[in-house]
Amino acid sequence: MRALVKTGPRPGMELREVPVPTFGPSDVLIRVKAAGVCGTDLHIWEWDSWASNRLRPPVVIGHEFAGEIADLGPQAAAEGLLKVGDKVTAEGHIICGHCLQCRTGHGHLCTRTRIIGVDRDGAFADYIAMPATNVIPLEGIPVDIGAIMDPIGNAVHTVLEGDAVTGSTVFVLGCGPIGCFACGVAKAAGASLVVASDYNDLRLGLARKMGADVTLNPGKDDVLSRILELTGGVGVDLICEMSGHPAGHAQAFAAARLGGRVNLLGTPSRSTEVDFARDIIFKGLTLYGVTGRKMYSTWHQMTRFLRSGQLDPLPVVTHRFPLEGIADAIAVIKEGSAGKVILEIAQ
Ligand SMILES: [Zn+2]
Ligand SMILES: [Zn+2]
Repeated sequence: MRALVKTGPRPGMELREVPVPTFGPSDVLIRVKAAGVCGTDLHIWEWDSWASNRLRPPVVIGHEFAGEIADLGPQAAAEGLLKVGDKVTAEGHIICGHCLQCRTGHGHLCTRTRIIGVDRDGAFADYIAMPATNVIPLEGIPVDIGAIMDPIGNAVHTVLEGDAVTGSTVFVLGCGPIGCFACGVAKAAGASLVVASDYNDLRLGLARKMGADVTLNPGKDDVLSRILELTGGVGVDLICEMSGHPAGHAQAFAAARLGGRVNLLGTPSRSTEVDFARDIIFKGLTLYGVTGRKMYSTWHQMTRFLRSGQLDPLPVVTHRFPLEGIADAIAVIKEGSAGKVILEIAQ
């Protein structure tokens, strides 16, 4: 089969012929139809310090995908929940099930998480093998949406953690694909006001398509005074911090109302300075670090939003490439001219 492989400790990926993956008794073999390309794949392509410390080539890249079940191990088949031909996606974090976090309902924080396309072979290939417990039937959700449910799930997790969003004000700081999805999730969940910010006007346009009521560009707008204006001087209830930038953190804490909440998904590449007394303690803020998707409450919330039509993520998809077009896919992500990018792997 074809696969995009990180073959050695250097930038790029190679399209190679490799064997179809073997799979265990409780696994399923999935024929991949579409896959999402994300910032993580850009880090892996560029072979930055995170990638070179984490990956052990050769490894097949890709962690966001959807496809069709081609075969099942005997145990997975005996369970009777999945069958050949089912359209599915999968949670790409494979967890141990035994550590304290796994056993207390916090599997998204498993100490032994192995991520497909990072720690083991991934989805930029004709086939991928997955544990049946990670597989999510699409049941009517289109395959190209299935291919991006991993990052949509990050947005669902970020927006829905904490008090109900219904009637509240939400500030999405950073409008990469996950920030844009978060705008749609916040509207679907009944937010009364969604403000989104980014330096990139193309991304702000996508955020508006996803339902953002107001978009602000920190290069042109005084974001904080606009937010105070829009919230009657009190600040926003929930900030979804998607930028990971030190300036983003400062703005997130400043934009939050007293007693507000900041859910942080963007990952800074270095440590940042925070005035805890002024910005967190005396404001009574709640901070929450968003890792992956909750297993599996996030997936259930997301599939309901998608099946009901309350959430349509497709406006965020700006580019589609075949598997051999990976260099072009990486290029549009790198230059900031893309929303979500999809690889179309099979019909
Ligand atoms: Zn991703
Ligand atoms: Zn675990």
